[in-house]
Amino acid sequence: MKKPFDIDLAVKLIDEAVRPFPKAAMFELAEEGFNSAFEQLVACMISIRTYDEVSLPTARKLFERARTPAEVSKLTVGEIAALINTSTFFERKAAQIHEIANRIVNEYDGNLPCDSEILLSFPGVGPKCANLVLGIACGQPSISVDIHVHRVTNRWGYVKASTPEKTMTALEAKLPREHWIDLNRLLVPFGKHICTGEHPHCSTCPVLDMCQQMGVKGQR
Ligand code: SF4
Repeated sequence: MKKPFDIDLAVKLIDEAVRPFPKAAMFELAEEGFNSAFEQLVACMISIRTYDEVSLPTARKLFERARTPAEVSKLTVGEIAALINTSTFFERKAAQIHEIANRIVNEYDGNLPCDSEILLSFPGVGPKCANLVLGIACGQPSISVDIHVHRVTNRWGYVKASTPEKTMTALEAKLPREHWIDLNRLLVPFGKHICTGEHPHCSTCPVLDMCQQMGVKGQR
């Protein structure tokens, strides 16, 4: 018999469990000082469909050369592409990053506003990256749902949703706001190393006694 899911306790236990593992990419970059809204947005775009082990050094390489909208807008699309060419879809991302930098320079005086509508109006920017920017760079409570957050919260039985977008809506209705920003920080390493896609490590999981293990077939 499982205990009722206690989200406050789960957050505390998972915070302890993920300490030995590398931090989620955007939080790692923020700690290194790449914490402006523009840097977080660009780094998130670079990370789309790209492993953290690749996207982190790629973002650092671009920021060594240019880290403000004004600096990036002065590069050509080809120069940006050459700097981020280890990222998946780098040519498309380079064109999008260049366009975004130009728009910020021309429409917002070179400063990216902490505004969800503006972020979502940019090419290649979806709710996951917009909410990471708002949460990490702007300190606005927001839930960024990637594949790990989606899988883990559904396995818990905390939400029941078929897509990351629906999971985000369900979490916004249920999750206490104090956990909104931290959820991504915690569940990315938790999903990579403990509640893994295949054969999650349930036998040593700190929230096993309250997790419904929804859809879990093979486990360790
Ligand atoms: S008990 Fe298993 S399915 Fe549930 S959170 Fe832990 S590892 Fe994931």
